[in-house]
Amino acid sequence: MSIVIAIDGPAASGKGTLARAIAQELGFAHMDTGALYRASAYELIKAGMSARDKTDALKAAQILVKKIKAADMPDDILGKPSLREDRIGQKASIIAAYPKVREALNILQQDFAASPPRPYKGAVLDGRDIGTVICPDADVKIFVTADDEVRAQRRTKELQSRGLDVTYEAVLKDMRERDARDTARTAAPMKQAPDAYVLDTSALTQAEMLSQALEIIREKVQI
Ligand code: C5P
Repeated sequence: MSIVIAIDGPAASGKGTLARAIAQELGFAHMDTGALYRASAYELIKAGMSARDKTDALKAAQILVKKIKAADMPDDILGKPSLREDRIGQKASIIAAYPKVREALNILQQDFAASPPRPYKGAVLDGRDIGTVICPDADVKIFVTADDEVRAQRRTKELQSRGLDVTYEAVLKDMRERDARDTARTAAPMKQAPDAYVLDTSALTQAEMLSQALEIIREKVQI
């Protein structure tokens, strides 16, 4: 049985960077599950479909699942820099509220957690519902938080460094809207699992985040 580490938290909390760093440190495979929702939103826009229509949203998720299954390198599909744009994040969070869309994407995530690609010894997944719905039996669950202003500053910097033309105010507004939608939805809302460790990263550097997370992980599992 492979070891599974679930990392959840709100937008721009640092969970993606942390999950990637943990995976690298431990020799585990990493899945950014938000990218599945973003890439579905991208397919939806490309096909001229509407995020307000749940049938369209399901079609977009199914197109994505088919592409990923057929791809040699799914990272090429999920790693596109344009997926990081706020307009994609907003549409992702609208379609993420549809139970059928979640169902279509859940299988990919659960398969990845159960059998990470070789030669990886375990899997780290980051998202909103990993510890609650996707992997309720994960070996370690960490819920990453940070003040929303700190998160917006980080996100603005990240997007600007990728060459995107964004302002702090617009990023903060987008983030608050998405967090509100992700928390309020009925289907797999963003929430901390009862057995998750909370890691507030507001005042932490990336190196500090990683070392605290590794401490939590090594307390729970022998690696
Ligand atoms: O993590 P990221 O910000 O890239 O996620 C984009 C959107 O995808 C989130 O706002 C959320 O609505 C959705 N999402 C989700 N469940 C996950 C990961 C992301 O609903 N496990």
